[in-house]
Parts: sequence; structure tokens; C-alpha cells
Amino acid sequence: MAEGQKRDIKSLPLDQLKEELAALGEKPFRAGQLYRWLHVKLARDFGEMSDLSRQLRETLGERYFCTSLQPVRVQVSRLDGTRKYLFALPDGNLVESVWMRYHHGNSVCISSQVGCRMGCRFCASTLDGLERNLTPAEMLDQVYAIWLDTGERVSNVVVMGSGEPLDNYDNLLTFLRMLTDENGLHLSQRNVTVSTCGLAPQIRRLAEEKLQITLALSLHAATDEKRKELMPIAKRYSIAELMEACRIYYEKTGRRITFEYSLVGGKNDTDQDARALAALARPLGCHVNLIPVNPIRERDFVQSGRARIKAFQNELEKYKINGTIRREMGRDIDGACGQLRRRTMQSFQADRSQQDFGGRQTC
Ligand code: SAH
Repeated sequence: MAEGQKRDIKSLPLDQLKEELAALGEKPFRAGQLYRWLHVKLARDFGEMSDLSRQLRETLGERYFCTSLQPVRVQVSRLDGTRKYLFALPDGNLVESVWMRYHHGNSVCISSQVGCRMGCRFCASTLDGLERNLTPAEMLDQVYAIWLDTGERVSNVVVMGSGEPLDNYDNLLTFLRMLTDENGLHLSQRNVTVSTCGLAPQIRRLAEEKLQITLALSLHAATDEKRKELMPIAKRYSIAELMEACRIYYEKTGRRITFEYSLVGGKNDTDQDARALAALARPLGCHVNLIPVNPIRERDFVQSGRARIKAFQNELEKYKINGTIRREMGRDIDGACGQLRRRTMQSFQADRSQQDFGGRQTC
């Protein structure tokens, strides 16, 4: 079988793997063994699977490939130990993931797409548009590769890296089910958060999936007018439509939604903005995460001052809304979404053009 026709074995849930192995004439328990190698023992290739016969390993290697992401770069924050990974995908694309240590356990932030087509004004991931969706295996393997690299258990996963997860809906769902499958790493669904810029129909669809994950909505403004200035998706779905989708999500799942609100100096950070935000959060009992905007070179947004952020939080509190100011982890290591990938790609490109003039490759 030609290399390009091999199938992606790590993206197959256990029931599909059983069918595939049955078609190869293997006994059903072999599928369980293989799934364990891939998703519990975190094997990187078929050669490691010592209790499968050599013959079966060879057959698998002829028909399937095993997605194993390779770290191209790891940056470790001297401030808080946060680790930022840049992974190479089999087709040469790059994605970022971040590992953070909290008192309640280790958390990994993963990417769901290479690039993004949502166009949020302050976000570096979207500057070059969408390259492609990630497969379930490519999302899982960000967690697996980091688990292996640190040698420490990961207890929380947040889908808050590059990409819009609900724009890659089917792969995201397979990923969520496999990550929390009792036959795999079996993370608690409550410890998994998916963050969306607000695709209302997909939020309503997600509400029907019977998952106990946390949904975070990137609101960033409390009026349609202001939101449209920051997020083009606001032209497609109004805040009223989004709130209705959130209400349905809460009703069906019983899970409270988190609002994310990036504070941009002079844009969305007045007391009046806080009151409008509180009015949206109140009926749904939402928690609000306040994120001081992380300025990117390509845009001229500035952070609100410390005092303004605190005043915004106090104003929310007056209306009984809990707002947590997100600690900026890894500020010294290209913390903002998409920055590390972008810088590395740019330096690859610069290197290539330098090479033409006899320059030296640095990455
Ligand atoms: N597409 C998803 C995940 C994006 S990243 C979403 O929109 O929710 C996770 C969060 O970081 C989002 O709330 C996003 O709007 C925010 N974000 C992206 N770039 C940022 C920046 N430079 N400063 C502050 N927040 C940013």
C-alpha cells in the first residue's frame, strides 16, 4: 500500500478499531490491546507493541500510520515553569500547545486547527487564515507527547490554543470522547474546557451530545456594536442568538458557561461595559474570566491598566458576578495564541531567503 493511502489509526475510537481488526481476521480482544498501547501506554509506533505478534505489527504498519507529534521547540518560562511546545505535524505544518502547572494539577492547552479563519482582531493565530483542521489524533497527541515529555500526569485539558474548535466539530467530538474514554487516559469530562468565539448553531448541537465538559464563550464585548469591532463572527451571530444558545446549553447539560473577556484598553473596559457584561452573565449564572489583552505586534491594541482591570472586576462584583483576572502564565515565552508558531515560521522563511545568499540556517 502506498505511503499516502495509509489510514490514521490513532483517530479511531475503540468500536471502530474493533471493526477494523475483525476485518483483518483478528480476535476482538486484540483491538483492546492495541487501543491500550495507543491511548494508555502512549506508544509512539507499532514497533513498541511487544505483546502483539510481529506479523500483526507488520500488517498494521503496512495499512496504518501512527500520528506521533515531534517537538520542534520547547520554551520553558523562568517565571512560572510554563512550557510552550511547538510541534511538527506529519505534513510539515506547525502547531502550539502549552503546559501549565496549577495547584489543582497539570493543564495542557491544545490547538484544534492550523491557523484559524475567524479573524478576531487581537489574535495572532488568525493573521494568516486557516491552513487546515487537526485530526482527532493530532489533538490527542499534543496531550500524549507532553505527558511523555514531562513524565507527569495531565489532569486538565483546555481547547484554547490556535483554531476555532467548533469550526472543526466532528474531529473535536471524536477527540473529546477518546480523551475521556475509560479505555484511554480517562480524563474527567469536567476537567476539559472548550472555548469558542461563538458559533451559535454548533453550541446548540453540542448541547445535545450529553457531555459534561465546560464550555467557555469568548464574548469580549457586551454589545453587538462593540463586539463587531473586535470579532467578525459577531456580524453572523448576534449576542441575543448567542445567549439563547447558551441558555439551551445550560438547560440541557446543567453545566454553567464561562464567559471570556479580554480587556482592551479604551475599547471594552469601562464601568458601563462591566455593567452590560454583568447583565448578560446574571441570568445564566456565568463566571467571567478577565484576560488582560496580550498585545501582538501586528495590531495596536493596548492592555488596560491594573487599576482599571481591578475596577472592572469590582463593578462586576456589585452585580454579584464573579470575575477572575487570569494570571498571565508564560509571559516571557510568547504566551499569546499563535505567537510562537508565527515567529518560528517567519524565521524559517527568513532563513530560507538568507540561504539563497549563503546565509546560515538557525532553526
Ligand atoms: N477560537 C477559540 C479559542 C481561541 S484562544 C475562541 O475564540 O474562544 C482562547 C482565548 O484567548 C479566546 O477567548 C481568545 O479570544 C483569547 N485571545 C486570543 N488572542 C488573545 C490576545 N492576544 N490577548 C488576549 N486574549 C486573546
